[in-house]
Amino acid sequence: QPPQTIAIDPSVRELFPPEVLAERLEDVPVSFETLPEDAAPGEYDALVTFEYRENLLAADPDWVHCVLAGVDTFPLGDLEARSVALTNSTGIHGDAVGETVLGYMLQFARRLHDHRDAEATREWEYPDWNVPFTLRGETVCVVGLGTLGRGVATRADAIGMDVVGVRRTPVPVEHVDELYAPDALDAAVSDARFVVLTVPLTERTRGLVGADELSAMSEDAYLVNVARGRVVDQDALVEELRAGGLAGAALDVTDPEPLPDDSPLWEMDEVVVTPHAAAATRDYVDRVAAIVRENCRRLEADEALANRVV
Ligand code: NAD
Repeated sequence: QPPQTIAIDPSVRELFPPEVLAERLEDVPVSFETLPEDAAPGEYDALVTFEYRENLLAADPDWVHCVLAGVDTFPLGDLEARSVALTNSTGIHGDAVGETVLGYMLQFARRLHDHRDAEATREWEYPDWNVPFTLRGETVCVVGLGTLGRGVATRADAIGMDVVGVRRTPVPVEHVDELYAPDALDAAVSDARFVVLTVPLTERTRGLVGADELSAMSEDAYLVNVARGRVVDQDALVEELRAGGLAGAALDVTDPEPLPDDSPLWEMDEVVVTPHAAAATRDYVDRVAAIVRENCRRLEADEALANRVV
């Protein structure tokens, strides 16, 4: 059934103003309604939302679209039982997250964070002679080769890095020199200067990187997490960093979010924490609009939804 009314949940404000999304979708022959902040669920056939909330299904929508790629907060079984279709926004973050990850790696290699820190106290300080390095010739291991992983691999290859990847299907991926199966994660990370996590959070990836994987990484390696906080055992990470078993980490996602005030990660010089912003770009709203527009067309044409999860 093509929807007549699609509600836009105020939670999308985390990423863009709901009314801008409605504006971008003016060409679609469906009525878009931006819900007020504290509204009880009204009557609508479909909902666009940032997150799952308790009363989200009260209006009995046929279709829910999540403006994130990760739908780990949604009760997938419940949605399936109630025949609610769930679609996500995978496919749109490769450029933004790819560039952010390249930025983290460049920052550590070229010591940009040190210079910015020194600038705060007007210090003119040349780095120790043997600390800075170039990314060219270094190895990055990308764990999960979907939209994010490929976005990272393409850029790492372009700058002259050696790229290895972890993938469930042993089929070659462009810009990735060598593939490992998920059960060979220890071997995959052992030679890498950077390990970048780009998998969804699922039963199988929760705690994927724990004490064993961290100690398999080299002492001069950096962990980059742009997936979900719980993919990493955060306590084990803190311990490994304190013990000098790892050079540092860039964490766009943490467990929980926001990262609590008293987390030791805030204080570590070689840890860069960003507020789940790796995918932020002013084009975000247009990319979400394109998915919603395409799915409205598909429902009208009685075709299967794109990006369907449930
Ligand atoms: P995607 O579906 O395009 O890619 C995920 C890939 O991971 C797929 O290729 C899948 O086969 C692979 N995978 C799943 N389990 C695996 C395992 N155990 N080992 C190896 N590979 C495995 O999704 P995407 O758009 O690339 O996003 C991936 C995840 O990144 C999302 O689920 C979300 O949690 C997170 N994400 C974070 C941000 C951010 O702002 N930091 C932005 C977008 C996505």
